[in-house]
Amino acid sequence: MKKCLLLFTCMIILCLYGCGSKKESASKVEPIDCEYAYMNYAVSGDDGYYFLCGGLVAFWDGDLEHQAVPLCNRPGCKHRTDECEGRISTSHPGKLFYSDGYLYAFSQWWKEDPVTKEVSYPLWRIAADGSGKEKIFYVEGDLKMYTIYEDVVYYQIEEIDEKERRICSVWSVPLKGGEAKMIWKSGLQYGNIAVLQGFGGKIYFDEEGVDMSIDMNDPELDFDGLDWEHYAYAYDPQKDEVIKDPLKGEDDSLRFASIRSNFEGNLIYVLCNFQDRNKNELWYKPKDEGEEPVYLGKQMTGKGADRNMIGVADPEYRYMEWRDRETETCGLKIYDHENNLVYEMQEESFDNWTYWIPGTEKYVFGCRERQLEDEAWIETTILVLERDKLADSTARIIPLISN
Ligand SMILES: [Zn+2]
Repeated sequence: MKKCLLLFTCMIILCLYGCGSKKESASKVEPIDCEYAYMNYAVSGDDGYYFLCGGLVAFWDGDLEHQAVPLCNRPGCKHRTDECEGRISTSHPGKLFYSDGYLYAFSQWWKEDPVTKEVSYPLWRIAADGSGKEKIFYVEGDLKMYTIYEDVVYYQIEEIDEKERRICSVWSVPLKGGEAKMIWKSGLQYGNIAVLQGFGGKIYFDEEGVDMSIDMNDPELDFDGLDWEHYAYAYDPQKDEVIKDPLKGEDDSLRFASIRSNFEGNLIYVLCNFQDRNKNELWYKPKDEGEEPVYLGKQMTGKGADRNMIGVADPEYRYMEWRDRETETCGLKIYDHENNLVYEMQEESFDNWTYWIPGTEKYVFGCRERQLEDEAWIETTILVLERDKLADSTARIIPLISN
């Protein structure tokens, strides 16, 4: 018994020492470079991490003992209305960018002018010290995808042309202001861009669409049976030119379909066969110029597959958000690139939706959405998982802030 007590005391002391030394290392902020085409709700700044938490911008100093706080210095603010310095009008994880003491994000919910009925999407600039926010640019038209790369905003808009065709285009505008410029326009109809992301000095994007006229009012129209075409592009801002098919596989049926950079600054991308998804391949390209891409393996397909690449941008792991409608269960599964299950966690409720990103070498971030009963408000919670504790399954999910 005494031995046990002694061992227990030693463990406590060890733990205290361990915790103490960890606190010191927590002050060092690791950069996050893992932009995901659809969302990017966690970024690192000079002193800590910033989150877009259901329309609220929040700051966390990187210490697991501390909570995140709303980025708002307004006295007595409850952080629930538009007057809050940290709140912008968006309720989805969305995308947040940090540059030189400021955070940038578009309001994903457009605003309609009550008189002209014109819609616009404001780009917000939020001071990283919580001292204020302002709208610096408006996208006129239907904003879809956007990214901010090397202080330039790139965004996709969708327009209906004079022949009633739906066409998408990509535009750029510098963060410091200036004229918006169209850099590319699709030749396809009903096109969609799923990826728009900067990496290694270029902007990568893809398109999916059909090269034919369609009567959208035709009740017989078989949308899935149409001859969908898929292309990928890279835009070089220095030369102001767009290159088609910048990443090609040896197999001609495979096309670049999705892309992410990871926290080491490398690129992870999927080559996809749009007829046969079982052939999809996952590749890794080192950040150094001239180094050959490395094949990581087949992309997982089937139930809960990682075709949306939730968290594949990790040198070691793939993070998979899974949902099983039959058993009404969902959660997170983490595999290594040999498809061995490393970590598994189940959400308490099937109504929870959590988006995970492998933020840094130390942390994985989650953004959980939950519809509250009797309220229109969607509760969003930012979560953190210690990445170095995944392998022995001791990683705990720690909530940092709710909106
Ligand atoms: Zn506030």
